[in-house]
Amino acid sequence: MGITPSVKTGVRHTEEYKQEKKDYQKAYRIKNKEAIEERRKARYLEKRDIILARTQAWRDNNRDRLKEYNDKYKAKNREAILERERGHKLKLVQCFGNKCEDCLEGFHPAVYEFHHRIPKFKTGTISKMYKLPWKELYKEALKTDMLCRNCHCYRHIEMRGHKHESKTID
Ligand SMILES: [Zn+2]
Repeated sequence: MGITPSVKTGVRHTEEYKQEKKDYQKAYRIKNKEAIEERRKARYLEKRDIILARTQAWRDNNRDRLKEYNDKYKAKNREAILERERGHKLKLVQCFGNKCEDCLEGFHPAVYEFHHRIPKFKTGTISKMYKLPWKELYKEALKTDMLCRNCHCYRHIEMRGHKHESKTID
């Protein structure tokens, strides 16, 4: 006798029920957004070590893929990356007062170099660190004096005790 009303109703009920459930879940998620986020964070913290180890293992096993991805990203965003690094240098130059620590002259940003006062505290060369997050870069820069190239050269001559110890003539 074709489709019986009860079957028809059943089908409709299922579809309606599914939609109702979806709407209810969506409303629940919106209403309890913060609590859900808290639970998600707690779960992450609880399993943090496992998650991080798994991520690191994946990175170790996919070095080539990662390199390829990074190279592609760099090629595509070359200008933006350079712009960001230039911005970091300009910001440092501003932070250091835009003048050489020794001769007190102001120069074009390209003239400035960052000299580590205490070599053993140096973790990296500033000119190679512009790609780092600002906080890390700034933390390292605080160990340095900003000098013009000329004064920087003299600092190193002084550090050698005015002697020609290196093979180059200075
Ligand atoms: Zn100078």
